[in-house]
Amino acid sequence: MTDSPARALETRLIHAGEPSPRIAGEVVMPVFQTAMYEYRGGGEYHDIPYIRLNNTPNHKAVQEKLAAIEGGEAALVTASGMAAISTTLLALLRAGDHVLAQGCLYGGTRTFLESQLPRFGISVDFLDMDDPGAWASAARETTRVVYVESMTNPLLEVTDLDAVVAFARARGLISVVDNTLATPVNLRPLARGVDLSLHSATKYLNGHSDIVAGAVIGARRHVARVKHLLDHTGGSLDPHACALLHRGLKTLALRVRAQGEGALALARALQEHPAVARVHYPGLPQHPHHARARALLEGCGGLLSFELRGGAAAAERLLERLELPIVAPSLGGVETLITRPAVTSHAGVDPETRARLGISDGLVRVSVGIERPGDLVADFQAALAEL
Ligand code: PLP
Repeated sequence: MTDSPARALETRLIHAGEPSPRIAGEVVMPVFQTAMYEYRGGGEYHDIPYIRLNNTPNHKAVQEKLAAIEGGEAALVTASGMAAISTTLLALLRAGDHVLAQGCLYGGTRTFLESQLPRFGISVDFLDMDDPGAWASAARETTRVVYVESMTNPLLEVTDLDAVVAFARARGLISVVDNTLATPVNLRPLARGVDLSLHSATKYLNGHSDIVAGAVIGARRHVARVKHLLDHTGGSLDPHACALLHRGLKTLALRVRAQGEGALALARALQEHPAVARVHYPGLPQHPHHARARALLEGCGGLLSFELRGGAAAAERLLERLELPIVAPSLGGVETLITRPAVTSHAGVDPETRARLGISDGLVRVSVGIERPGDLVADFQAALAEL
């Protein structure tokens, strides 16, 4: 609570949201492993102190820290990133409404938009983000929300957020951005005029691959709408997971910067390798959104993807030969993970759509951890030499 917006992100990651006065003089926020608290009525339903209502001391502390670091009035933590995304969209939309969404999104989000929202009478159209001139013709009278990722999974496209905000404002739409890949270290979408910033806190915010969690950050009135629905649908985060997320957040800036250095070193090495056909990392001058990344982001983060000339078969051989990266889906942890999105994160997206979006079967995604970049590059070079 000894927090001030004038202080730097690194300082706020440590001090924002901490109880004041410290509970029994604690230095680290204790886990309040109690489902309910003494309460005799008097407030409204959503204020009853109960884990499902997202208002225990652990929720309050981590939510305050998240709001402070992303520059929002309020924040809400959820049981997963998908709980943050689905609850936000269902809270903002009703039957008859229409959503405009970026085409290339995390596979689970794309599938939720395409196959779940229509069951509630909500229709969705996908936008070509590189053609803002065409967005106006996709908008309808009933469009309420525009949904994008600030950096896309797995192609690392950098979205023109200023254009999205201008488009949303001109039409009175609520802009919702999944800021998981960029993280508040590299981008704070609310400061650019976005209405709600969402995260899979499973990834960089927690950073240690040991919980699944989500976050919704923005204006108090929007976050309250989402909380009220979450209170009823029940996708709340357990206090122990809140405490792990709280701990992980303290090192966010250190981790994300180290991961960014590692990713840039690996992207450069891959770019020069004859077995590699294409590297997707906006920190490389060859990336189509390099200039936008430089203007919008403070760093390009720890995720990259690439294609080998030998396609999916060569990718599988590479995954077998690498020693350091763990072959596993997900991203954002301190250990390097490697996966083929076509068979993991985007397996639920139909193959034709995947191909149209540029997610080939051979695409390899690397979530760079905090290992020494030279060790990681050497491991890739040794494995590539054996292909
Ligand atoms: N958003 C992005 C960009 C993701 O990469 C993911 C998961 O990989 C999600 C949302 C979903 O998060 P979770 O797995 O925490 O539900």
